[in-house]
Amino acid sequence: MPKLRRLWAHDIGIDLGTANTLVYARGTGIVVDEPSVVAINQQNRDIIAIGTRAKEMIGKTPEEILAARPLVDGVVSDFEVTEQMLQYFIGRIHRQHTVIWQRPRVVIGIPSDVTEVEKRAVENACATAGARETYLVEEPMAAAVGCRLPVTSSTGSMLVDIGGGTTEVAVVSLGGVVVSRSLRTAGDELIESVMGHMRDEFTLSIGEATAEKIKNTVGTAMPMSQPKTMPVRGRDIMTGMPKEASVSSDQIRMALHKTVRTLVESIKLTLEETPPELINDIMEQGIVLTGGGSILRNLDSLIAQETKMPVTVAEDPLYSVVTGTGLILEDLSAYKSVLVSMEGM
Ligand code: ADP
Ligand code: MG
Repeated sequence: MPKLRRLWAHDIGIDLGTANTLVYARGTGIVVDEPSVVAINQQNRDIIAIGTRAKEMIGKTPEEILAARPLVDGVVSDFEVTEQMLQYFIGRIHRQHTVIWQRPRVVIGIPSDVTEVEKRAVENACATAGARETYLVEEPMAAAVGCRLPVTSSTGSMLVDIGGGTTEVAVVSLGGVVVSRSLRTAGDELIESVMGHMRDEFTLSIGEATAEKIKNTVGTAMPMSQPKTMPVRGRDIMTGMPKEASVSSDQIRMALHKTVRTLVESIKLTLEETPPELINDIMEQGIVLTGGGSILRNLDSLIAQETKMPVTVAEDPLYSVVTGTGLILEDLSAYKSVLVSMEGM
């Protein structure tokens, strides 16, 4: 009889993002990095695919299949689907092993403006997915830990996490979030702006994936000395026929302008609410940008120009939150103060 190996719990850290879900397994590193997308058969609610495979189906599915993003507003907008998605990602870590495994402890990031009900929903989803204990941490705090900012010291740090559905602006100090702002303006809105621009200026209808590619390839937050252009294929709205157009960085910059302004203004407003002593620290240390949305070309320069503060982009903007949950997991007692306590617990 084969000997059963007893595998100790892989405690895990999770970044349940609106665009991407990442899982860190203690002792191993990042083991899941997939889009937060679930393809569902709308007739019988069957789940067809989760993650990368489901994202590939967006805009290509037959009518009865819906490629849903259950966290598209930054919170658990579809509880049941979120639960199944988490269960799948957590389960996948253990599926390879034919061993007995203990239920893991989970540290999971949540947006800073979630309600008690939503906190419970996340906790329940983790419990159903197999968690023994769940610790919640506010996403900007997890991101700050992941960027190795001195979150538990009295030094103030400012972090701006621009994701797909939400942007979190936060000033942290002494293990707590001192001032924060959470807005529903982020990468997705930039993608929609590109789609709107192509429709209005070129009568060209394009899909989300193409719009994202345009944003990432030629998009910029400030004028460029050597602007880029790229060819774009789509469907002409007037004729219904395929059509190709050439778009430039300048055009896309203008298309993104309104959303970029909203981001800049919310950073300025947060700075206005920040206590002067902490402003001093931020001036020295600089504002740190993270999240996939922070990769937009020249966004850091624009924010630096507008706030007159030094600005840096995190080393791995897509990994800050999950890395933070991992670091917290490795030393729960040191990071006790950064964890969210729930009412009635
Ligand atoms: P969330 O935390 O909400 O899941 P992410 O931090 O994963 O979001 O960031 C997703 C956003 O990052 C998307 O809007 C995506 O378009 C954008 N993004 C990802 N890679 C790049 C890139 N190379 N250049 C610009 N934007 C990017
Ligand atoms: Mg995120």
